[in-house]
Amino acid sequence: MSRTALRICPLCEATCGLTLTIEGTRVTGARGDRDDVFSKGFICPKGAAFGAVDGDPDRLRGPLVRRDGILREATWEEAFDAVAAGLRPVVERYGPDAVGVVLGNPNVHTVAGGLYPPVLVGALRTRSLFTASTVDQMPKHVSSGLLFGDAHAIPVPDLDRTGHLLLIGANPLESNGSLCTAPDFPGRLKALKARGGRLTVVDPRRTRTARLADRHLAIRPGTDALLLAAMAHTLFAEDLVDLKHLAPHVQGLGELRDALADFTPEAAAPACDLDAAVIRTLARDLAAADTAAVYARIGSCTVPHGTLASWLVDVLNILTGNLDRPGGALFPQAATDRTPRPAGPGRGFQLGRWHSRVSKHPEAKGELPLSALAEEIDTATDEGTPVRALIAVAANPVLSAPDGDRLDKALASLDFMVSVDPYLNETSRHAHVVLPPPPPSQSPHHDFAFNTLAVRNQVRYTRPAVPLEPGRMAESEILARLVLAATGTDGADPAAVDAMVIEQTLGKAVRDAHSPVHGRDPHDLAARLTGDNGPERRLDLMLRLGPYGDGFGARPDGLTLRKLLDHPHGIDLGPLRPRLPQPLKTRSGKVELLPEPIAGDLPRLRRALDERPEGLVLVGRRHLRSNNSWMHNVPALTGGSNRCTLHIHPEDAGRLGVRDGADVRVKGAGGAVVVPAEVTDGVRPGVVSLPHGWGHDRPGTRLSHAAGVPGVNVNQLLDGSLLDPLSGNAVLNGVPVEVVTLL
Ligand code: SF4
Repeated sequence: MSRTALRICPLCEATCGLTLTIEGTRVTGARGDRDDVFSKGFICPKGAAFGAVDGDPDRLRGPLVRRDGILREATWEEAFDAVAAGLRPVVERYGPDAVGVVLGNPNVHTVAGGLYPPVLVGALRTRSLFTASTVDQMPKHVSSGLLFGDAHAIPVPDLDRTGHLLLIGANPLESNGSLCTAPDFPGRLKALKARGGRLTVVDPRRTRTARLADRHLAIRPGTDALLLAAMAHTLFAEDLVDLKHLAPHVQGLGELRDALADFTPEAAAPACDLDAAVIRTLARDLAAADTAAVYARIGSCTVPHGTLASWLVDVLNILTGNLDRPGGALFPQAATDRTPRPAGPGRGFQLGRWHSRVSKHPEAKGELPLSALAEEIDTATDEGTPVRALIAVAANPVLSAPDGDRLDKALASLDFMVSVDPYLNETSRHAHVVLPPPPPSQSPHHDFAFNTLAVRNQVRYTRPAVPLEPGRMAESEILARLVLAATGTDGADPAAVDAMVIEQTLGKAVRDAHSPVHGRDPHDLAARLTGDNGPERRLDLMLRLGPYGDGFGARPDGLTLRKLLDHPHGIDLGPLRPRLPQPLKTRSGKVELLPEPIAGDLPRLRRALDERPEGLVLVGRRHLRSNNSWMHNVPALTGGSNRCTLHIHPEDAGRLGVRDGADVRVKGAGGAVVVPAEVTDGVRPGVVSLPHGWGHDRPGTRLSHAAGVPGVNVNQLLDGSLLDPLSGNAVLNGVPVEVVTLL
C-alpha cells in the first residue's frame, strides 16, 4: 500500500514543497504540493527525481573506518572512537588551527547542517574554516557586511511586484535562483513580463533566461563591476539619483560620486564590449522605472572584482531609491531570525581579523578561502602549523575547489580526516572515517538559511517522511557526536550538545532588555520547549524567540513549533516589508555607501578599464538537472542535454578548426583537460563554457553511474591563485584558457 508524505525539497535553493509517494519505506514518486504556501505546486525535474536521489544504491548505509589503509565497514561506536583518537592528538599537539573544517553547500539544505557546524567550529576554536561560500557568494556577504554592517543582510529582488528587473550573471531558468529563494522563478519572471514589466539580462551566454528577456546584453566576462560603476556614474552625471525614503539612512553620497568619477560609460564600454549609449540607457531605464531591482549572482561574484560588483548592485538599488521598498529589493525577515533589536549603531563588519598562514589571505566572515586549503595543508612556513587533520561535512572540494589535483595529494598527506558524507566520493575517499547521514526522506527539513533570502516571508517544517532505517543514525546525532568527539567529551550524551545551546541561548535572552523573555527564569523556559528531539526543541526555541514568535507567552498568537506542525503546508507570513533602519548594524547606524575597504579596492577596478587580455576566456554554466557533483550519480539527472562539453562559438570554432563533437584540449594556469566541443552560438565569441562538478574519474570512489560518465573537472584549469582580494572568493569566470584541437 502506498501513502503520501510532505517534504520540502532539499535539492536547490527554491525550497519547493513536495508530496512524496511512499511504498513501504521507499519513495516512489514526487509531485509539487499544490497547497504549499510558497511553491504552490511547482516542481522541477530534480524535485521529480527525489525518489531516485533518495534511493541511490551507492549511498553509504553505515560508517567506514580505515584499517590497514582500506576503508572498511564499522559500527558507529568504532567510528566515533576512531574520530576521537584521530582528532584529539592533533589538537593537543599542534593547537586548534591544525584542525581544518570544510563545509560544503548541502549543509545549507539540512536541519542538522544549519544547527551543528557553528557549534563544532566554536567548540574546536579553529580559525581554519573553509566553506563553499568562497567558491560562490562570499562577495555578496562582504559587500552586505560593509554596506549594512551585517554580512547576512542581503536584499532580494521583490520579484512578484517589481516592474523592472536587471538580472546579471544569473540563470534562474536553469538554477531556480540563488541568494533569492523563489519557487517557480521562471513563472515569476513570466508574470513580471505579463504585467508589463521589463526584464534585462546581462550574461556572456544566451541562456534560457536571456532568451526570455526583453533585452540581452552579452557582456565580456568579468566586467560586470565596470558596467555597474558606469551606470552609477550616469545616474550622478545626469542628475538621476533619487534616494527617496532612503535619504535619512544613507551616508557617503558625495564621496561615492567622486569615487566613481572615472567610470564614465565611454571608459567602461570597450572593456565590457558594450556601447556607451547602451550603458546610459540601462541607467536611465532603471531610474525611470516606477519600481526596479538589480539582482546579480554567480557570474558577477566569481570574478576578480566580485565584491565591488556585489556592492554596486546595492548601490544602484540605493541611488534609484529602490532599496527597501515594495517592488525594489528588500530584506526578508525569517521566522528564525533573532529578535529584531531596536535601530541604532552596531558593531560594524570587520575583514581580516586574521590571515591565512601561507598566502596571508584575510579572513572574511570567519572563513579562509577554499582556494587556500591545499597550501594550508601542504606548505610549511616559519609561523604556525599546517592543517594536519580535517573535518569535511558534505564537502567535495577535490571537485569544487581550484586545482583539485593538488588538493587530492594534500588530503592524502593528512594525519587524520573525517568526512560526513553520504557518498564515497573524490574527497571522502581520503578520509580515515566516513560518517554517512541518512537519505533526505529519513531527515526533517527546515530552511534556516534560505528563508532569510526568500522573496516572500513564510515558514515551513517537515518531519522525516520515512523512519530511520535500522543501522542509520540521524544527521543531527552524527554531528552532535562529532562535536563531542572533536572536543574530548566523546561518550557523553549527544543530547547534551542541544541542551548546552538551549541553555546558552536562553541565558542570553533573559539578560537582553529587548527580548520578550527578559528577566524570566531560563530553566522554566527550557522546560516549556516542545519537540520530539533536540533539533526540534532548538527550532521551537528559535521560532518562539523570533520576530513572529510567541515569546513564550508574551505574544500568545505567535509562532511555536506546535503551531507550525499544525500547518503542514507552511504558514505564509506575508510579502516582504520595508525594514530600514532596523537591519543596519554599521557603526554609524546608516547605510555606509563607500566603506573604506571598497574605496581601497577601486583603483584596481580603475586599472581594469584598460585591461583586455587576448585570447579565449572560460565561464561556467548550469543545467536544470544538475546542482552539485553528487547529483551526477543519478541516471535520471544526467544524459540528454546535461553533458560535460565545452561550448564554443562557431566563429572561434572555425578559427581554431574545432569540430562539433570532437575532443579539444583546454589548458589553463592549473592544468589541462580533454573534453568534447559543442559548437553553439549560445555563447558569445571569445568565450568558452564548461559546467562544474564533473570529473568523476578518480579511483577509490563508489559513484558507479558518475564514474561511467565522468566528464572533466573545470576547476583543474585553475591554479588557485586568482581570488577576489576582499572576499577571498575564487575567480571561476573570465579565466584565460587556450583551446587546441586534437587531431
Ligand atoms: S526547483 Fe529546486 S527546490 Fe524546487 S523541485 Fe526543483 S530542485 Fe527542488
